[in-house]
Amino acid sequence: MTFEELGLSEDILKAIQEMGYEQPSPIQEKAIPVLLSDDGRDLVALAQTGTGKTAGFGLPLLELTDPNNKTVQSVILSPTRELCNQIAEDLKTYSKYKKGIKVLSVYGGANISAQIKALKAGVNVLVATPGRLKDLISRGVANLNMVQRVVLDEADEMLNMGFKDELDFILSETPEYKNTWLFSATMPKEIERIAKNYMDDPFKITVGSQNQGAENIEHKYYVVRHSQRYGALKRIVDANPAIFGVIFCRTKRDTQEIADRLMAEGYNVDALHGDLSQAQRDRVMDKFRERKIQLLCATDVAARGIDVNDISHVINYELPEDTESYTHRSGRTARAGKKGESLSIVTDREKFKIGRIEKMIKKKFELAKVPKGEDVCQAQLMKLIEEVKTTSVNEKEISKYEAAILEEFKGLSKEEVIRQFVSKEFNKFMAYYADEDEFMSAGSGGRDRGERGNRRERRDRDGGGRDRDRSRGGRDSRGSKSKSSRGESSGYKTFFINIGTEDGVDKGQFIDYVCSTSEIPGKNIGAIRMNSKFSFFEVDGDVSRKVEKSLDSSKFNGRKLRVELAKPRG
Ligand code: AMP
Repeated sequence: MTFEELGLSEDILKAIQEMGYEQPSPIQEKAIPVLLSDDGRDLVALAQTGTGKTAGFGLPLLELTDPNNKTVQSVILSPTRELCNQIAEDLKTYSKYKKGIKVLSVYGGANISAQIKALKAGVNVLVATPGRLKDLISRGVANLNMVQRVVLDEADEMLNMGFKDELDFILSETPEYKNTWLFSATMPKEIERIAKNYMDDPFKITVGSQNQGAENIEHKYYVVRHSQRYGALKRIVDANPAIFGVIFCRTKRDTQEIADRLMAEGYNVDALHGDLSQAQRDRVMDKFRERKIQLLCATDVAARGIDVNDISHVINYELPEDTESYTHRSGRTARAGKKGESLSIVTDREKFKIGRIEKMIKKKFELAKVPKGEDVCQAQLMKLIEEVKTTSVNEKEISKYEAAILEEFKGLSKEEVIRQFVSKEFNKFMAYYADEDEFMSAGSGGRDRGERGNRRERRDRDGGGRDRDRSRGGRDSRGSKSKSSRGESSGYKTFFINIGTEDGVDKGQFIDYVCSTSEIPGKNIGAIRMNSKFSFFEVDGDVSRKVEKSLDSSKFNGRKLRVELAKPRG
């Protein structure tokens, strides 16, 4: 079918053609003719994000809007500010040749007086988050008496976010004769209740089968021990250098902690969670949309409605509490017909959850192996080659040096020159993974090797890498006291510990705590970097095992401590 055959007008057809929509998506093909028909039916559509549902309801809604009637004719309820803005923008673009239609989006966390002013100026289509719309109705500013249709977009997410009462309130404020168009990725009982209470013999559409993960998503999982989760995450990211992804954590604290740790290790990442102000969240989302950050660490709630195309990977650092959230998470990738991967890091004890999710989404997960050092090196090497190939050459500037450079390489063949250049970068990775065995259990059930053995391998790897640097006269990238400057025998190890300034400790108290728990003198401790929720600290290599052993799993103010060797910065 073509858009013309669906019964859309010239003005709308012209706009969507300019947007590059060539053919209706399945949901558009099914929904548009029904919604455009005169008998004004209610609709329940089961559709994932990224299926083109905004145009599915937006195009008929705009066709049915009378620009000369200045009352609110349509209300679209959506779970988040980002989605509201996205929908409003899309509707404005679709209706750019249908003059006079006023679309406004209103949402919580933003100045209400500006929204009130805009509402009073006359609006045809109001896109709103449920909480803010309820507020505007209660203040007598939003009048829904003349509303002809209500769209509930991502209805299940609105309920997940606790908007049940607001939805009931808003629906009861609208006229009986209006039509309700409900879109949801899943069909929990509460949505069925809404359909039963507020809808009249709705037309039902399902795109894909119910609760099915989007077709283009590949689902994989990795089995690791709990203590290997973070290491596995880094391997997965390192083995996918072009990754543009969302890492889901369960709690706000974990989200911030993982983002901070990755940041401290040089990854291009930021955090998105409910402890941030709206302005901070907007800033993070803008950076992500503009691809200034490659990875977004997010909680389920904060990531609801993230509508960014081209997300290549969703990584479940931990699986969500409830299986339904898995669909919301994985639905952030493979949008607009693209392919995507949803990767889950699980422990042996959590493996059973994979089976549950498989049943729900009716798709099989692939058991994957955590990438080996070798895999990471190869991926990074190919990325480097790609970057070299696509680097633009400043002919004018480089030509000045060309003769001298060529003279330097006179005795080398082309192959040798390439090898030299590539090795310059590549050696860093080789050094990092040099002594490393496959410390991951790689899907074998997570109990293949003793923890002690693994720890030692990692310790050797980290310490070895740094020592090698220093022996070449290198300097600790943080500028902290180094082996050579202190003239000690075995250098420092850097540890991560999950306490920070928010736990009410300063550096002095921290040193006291480490020294008394591990029974070592203060001089064994090197540089300390304290963040709000965690810290990095250096310990003389001679006593590092002792410190790790006595601190890890000890309790601080009733909280179990986690101490792990960290990858040195730089
Ligand atoms: P949605 O599910 O509405 O969030 O749409 C997902 C993405 O698909 C958006 O970027 C839309 O602009 C795009 N899109 C929607 N319908 C079509 C279509 N018929 N052809 C091409 N792209 C589309």
